[in-house]
Amino acid sequence: MGEIDGVLLDIDGVLTVSWEPIPGAPEALTRLRERGMPFRLITNTTTHARSELAGTLCEAGFDVRPEEVVTAVVATASYLRTHHPGAGVFVLSDGDPRGDLDGVRLVALEEAEVIVLGGACEDFSYPTMNRIFRRLMEGAVLVGMHRNMYWRTTEGLQLDAGAYIAGLEEATGKRAAICGKPSPAFFEEALRLLGVPAERAAMVGDDVVNDVLGAQRVGLTGVLVRTGKFLPSDLEREDGRPDHVLDSVADLPGWLEGGDR
Ligand SMILES: [Mg+2]
Repeated sequence: MGEIDGVLLDIDGVLTVSWEPIPGAPEALTRLRERGMPFRLITNTTTHARSELAGTLCEAGFDVRPEEVVTAVVATASYLRTHHPGAGVFVLSDGDPRGDLDGVRLVALEEAEVIVLGGACEDFSYPTMNRIFRRLMEGAVLVGMHRNMYWRTTEGLQLDAGAYIAGLEEATGKRAAICGKPSPAFFEEALRLLGVPAERAAMVGDDVVNDVLGAQRVGLTGVLVRTGKFLPSDLEREDGRPDHVLDSVADLPGWLEGGDR
């Protein structure tokens, strides 16, 4: 394998779980910065605007600047401005993503031409899903900020929006457009910000499908960590394997500095 000159890192499950730092993670990020290894945090998290995310990470002990965070919400806004300019958009998501949806015209569900699903939450109820289903059958378009199936909190695994998107696709016969990881456009935008070509960049994540295999398809080295949502079955998939597996992001600087690479 060639030299790695830049790193993309997932946040949830890699740096933090329920916003508590994973042991050794803040120090690992500091060491990357000290070594002059450029990095960007590339996340499907939809609960925070990028400035709030950087602030939350700083409170948890990470030295992170807002411009180093690339979120699926920002990617979604960019997608909507390009592919559905001026369209009425209904957004269902955890948190409040509106701050990063510049230039997107938000409307009520029954008026929407585009329906966007972000992270799952208690608002993903049967009545709301049924209204979305009906609107899609009337011709609206479905967009996903991501299609993550689940994530890990301190209380255990939590079902995410990907399961609802899959259900709506099955019921309506329409495919959703996905804006966050594993969309190639999202990785390519993060690489552009990183300033490093795919063949000299690594993606570090706890989601084997969206982080690792998605990045490998774009030409990055895929590194899976055994934290967050990691399950042993992630290493036995038919559709691909990570290039490397680390116990946690705490081992990343040592791996990059050559040791066992
Ligand atoms: Mg993650």
